[in-house]
Amino acid sequence: MEIDGTVRATEKSHRGFELALAGARVVSRAAVPLPLGVVDKVGADLNTRLDHRVLDLRKPAVRAIFELRSALLAGFREAFLHRGFVEVETPKLLRQGAEGGATLFSVAYFDRPAYLAQSPQLYKQMLIGAGLERVFEIAPAFRAEPSDTVRHITEFTSLDAEVGYVDDPEELRGLLEGIVADSVGATRSVLEASGNPLAAGLPRLELPFPRYSFATCEGWLGRPGAGRDFGTEEEKAIGERVARESGAPFYFLTDYPTSVKAATFYARRRDDDPGSTYYFDLDFRGLEIASGGLREHRLDPLLANLASAGLDPGSFAGYLEAFRYGMPPHGGWGLGIDRLVQALAGLANIRESRLFPRDRYRLDP
Ligand code: ATP
Ligand code: MG
Repeated sequence: MEIDGTVRATEKSHRGFELALAGARVVSRAAVPLPLGVVDKVGADLNTRLDHRVLDLRKPAVRAIFELRSALLAGFREAFLHRGFVEVETPKLLRQGAEGGATLFSVAYFDRPAYLAQSPQLYKQMLIGAGLERVFEIAPAFRAEPSDTVRHITEFTSLDAEVGYVDDPEELRGLLEGIVADSVGATRSVLEASGNPLAAGLPRLELPFPRYSFATCEGWLGRPGAGRDFGTEEEKAIGERVARESGAPFYFLTDYPTSVKAATFYARRRDDDPGSTYYFDLDFRGLEIASGGLREHRLDPLLANLASAGLDPGSFAGYLEAFRYGMPPHGGWGLGIDRLVQALAGLANIRESRLFPRDRYRLDP
């Protein structure tokens, strides 16, 4: 609807003005009834909302999430560029996966199979070998997640970073927490300036974020030395314990045991304790947001890790070549943007953090 008229001050309206209408034209006629109310007083269930996502996105409260998301991405880019990182783009059609075969999507690539990238892991490491010392990428990642959860989708946006000449995971954690704090701070400024109600929910972050070792958390859970990864409920219990210990929204879980990272062949095992790695997670109130650590940069231990993960080095020829001609110590992380938006906007389901989410059952709209 397009309308003309004159705006006049009046005490009769609670806004203090009224419009004296001179003319009105229908620009585009909407079919009735709407499948979803644009003013949604009843609160349609998420599936119905996603089935009619264009109408759903017209609601100011839904649009506010994507304004937050846009500000957050801009904040990340600025925080990375400010620290001397170069933004890169790596292939999403691959000959092999990096994160384990179970979650690979295969595609028919002319006369042979190919896979959709689960992460840019191998390529960002190759770029360190190429002499790009600090790289980051914000790009889609695809995982055939068989489980139907509120924190997994099949297409998500991964924010990846890789840093050369790093020998201490603490340096990576320092970079990551600084970048997260800067990006969340920049997001708050943008949202406050535009009057976005989600600004009020953004946490005020203090550096450094607390660090708890994997072994400490196992002790809290009463399963010392179990050496298997934390499940969803255990992650939540750790989040509740951290809330009592420090009250910090973001915290690191450090020193993951090798048994948990056995399939992560590129994760560097500790030199002084091969049963432990230089790997960590960044969590937000019981939700995993990022995983990272030092990578194995020496060819022989890397080949040994591939063998013990039961992988064929022949499938990784291009990757391995990068290690043959000089590869500095390096490390990095992968951070799920959708999970971070879910956390910062206080969303019950990760699907609400994407415009058109994809999951096991949803390919439309
Ligand atoms: P989880 O244990 O929660 O399944 P992961 O450890 O398998 O996650 P990573 O391989 O560490 O995931 O990926 C890095 C980050 O990417 C995760 O910390 C998370 O934020 C995000 N991520 C991974 N898989 C998904 C997914 N299916 N949907 C949304 N985000 C994801
Ligand atoms: Mg992880």
